[in-house]
Amino acid sequence: TLEVPNDLEIAKQTQLKHIIQIAAKLGLEPDDIEMYGKFKAKLPLSIIGKEKAAKGNLILVSAISPTPAGEGKTTVSIGLSEGLNRLGKKSVVVIREPSLGPVFGIKGGATGGGFSQVLPMEDINLHFTGDFSAVEKAHNLLAALIDNNLQNKNNSLNLDPRTISLKRVMDMNDRALRNIVIGLGGTGSGIPRESGFDITAASEVMAILCLSEDIEDLKNRLGNIFVGYTFDRKPIYARHLNAQGAMASLLKDALKPNLVQTIEGNPAIIHLGPFANIAQGTNSVLATNMGLTLGDYTVTEAGFGFDLGAEKFFDIKCQSAGLAPKAVVITATIRALKYHGGAALDSLKIPDPIALLRGLPNLEKHLESAKLFNVTPVIAINLFASDTEEEINILKEFAEEKGVKIAVANVWGAGGEGALDLAEKVIEVVEAKTSNFKPLYTWDMPVITKIETIAKNIYGAANVEFSQKARRDLKTISNLGLEGLPVCMAKTQKSLSDDPALIGRPRNFTVNVREIEIASGAGFIIPITGDMMRMPGLPVHPASENIDIDNEGNIYGLF
Ligand code: ADP
Ligand code: MG
Repeated sequence: TLEVPNDLEIAKQTQLKHIIQIAAKLGLEPDDIEMYGKFKAKLPLSIIGKEKAAKGNLILVSAISPTPAGEGKTTVSIGLSEGLNRLGKKSVVVIREPSLGPVFGIKGGATGGGFSQVLPMEDINLHFTGDFSAVEKAHNLLAALIDNNLQNKNNSLNLDPRTISLKRVMDMNDRALRNIVIGLGGTGSGIPRESGFDITAASEVMAILCLSEDIEDLKNRLGNIFVGYTFDRKPIYARHLNAQGAMASLLKDALKPNLVQTIEGNPAIIHLGPFANIAQGTNSVLATNMGLTLGDYTVTEAGFGFDLGAEKFFDIKCQSAGLAPKAVVITATIRALKYHGGAALDSLKIPDPIALLRGLPNLEKHLESAKLFNVTPVIAINLFASDTEEEINILKEFAEEKGVKIAVANVWGAGGEGALDLAEKVIEVVEAKTSNFKPLYTWDMPVITKIETIAKNIYGAANVEFSQKARRDLKTISNLGLEGLPVCMAKTQKSLSDDPALIGRPRNFTVNVREIEIASGAGFIIPITGDMMRMPGLPVHPASENIDIDNEGNIYGLF
């Protein structure tokens, strides 16, 4: 069995290289980068070469439908990039920044695990280079400007406070701030109204920053944030408050991707982190293009399973930025597939070939979906200590039947050494040029068609039903002239359907669209199915209880 010390111990055993050495691997001089101490740097946007980027080999790492057993996309992304570097390819892993909510909650950080990590993990997981704070400040500036406009009658936009959906944001799991009343305290302290806080990752500013190609584009998108209606039903956008200039100024450094290193001393770019359920859930377009400019291979990750993360990656991010991935890695674990096959969560370590076989249709569906985008999939079995040879062979036989390449990735237990087979298979797919990316839908289709296309083809739904509210929202979208935007589906990640209880590969189900939100700044509309949490709470025993720092400044308990 695999015996591995905990993530932070492994991280601490690693002798970090100066960030100048990491930059040098990418052909960058010390003067080309903006250092944040010895181990972190910002990469100026002037480094990006669009022509070089367009020729780069972009690899997307996605996964089967998430289960409480964990799939390990970030860990596999980092390990795969180490493996590619070992095989002589200049590879850069490009991933999202952790949010403090999960760091102190249940999930922990987002810097990989075992021997596949990005470093310095303490810094990356706690504040990093301040990007999230900048997003929070820019967002909250807009919120303050809105309430200030309500207060000051001689500058009034006639905004109806009841139509304002923008809340304030903070990077903390704090359920007590979900619903609050602001503006209490008399005439000098604002107009009382109901509002609340979302977590920073759920901010539209975060989604905007991730899709912006330069400062001008950023300002345009910020100005297009929908604020609400006037009492005579005219739409008000952030630009009516002249907010975009100051907001963009606050974001000038947050717009620049961050350079750090992997355990094996290879370059990693980490940048921003929009929610994967109500936003696109991938790092910034600028970070991806930075990776594609500086490396020969760029390995990136999209949140949740293929049905959410990869679909949005392809249809929103790739269409928006003109990206075309050459391969998609579908991460699967034997444990999670057994869970999809009906095995109980506490028995996933017990060998159970029957449950595994019953769980395979979930993987099968995501493989079919990859083909709809004309991108060749490679299955990565993210190896856990409890996996048996018999179970691994079942998965290999399944892949062979489907004609899909498969590799066991022992990235957690052995870093890049454990990813060589996966890296070789990815290189084979890239070099065979079998992928010819095409989006699932074009943005100019009617909104209903776009939603139905995703639900039927990617989720496997029989049909889609729209509530009365959703139909009214469709009218609003049409009145505002926003029908040409792509759709960013908000759906549970736990199931291919919109019912979290339906694991495996559900069939003959209806997707219910409850309402449709507008993210006109980010440039998408959000059909909402089910309840969407934008401000998570902490568990009974938050991870923060185990985090500590000693007198020398060493941090403990992060994972
Ligand atoms: P995702 O990106 O899919 O959310 P991560 O890569 O962040 O998943 O992994 C989630 C957690 O599971 C991390 O704490 C990581 O250390 C752990 N993990 C991932 N792969 C393995 C593995 N093969 N064995 C043991 N733990 C793993
Ligand atoms: Mg991840």
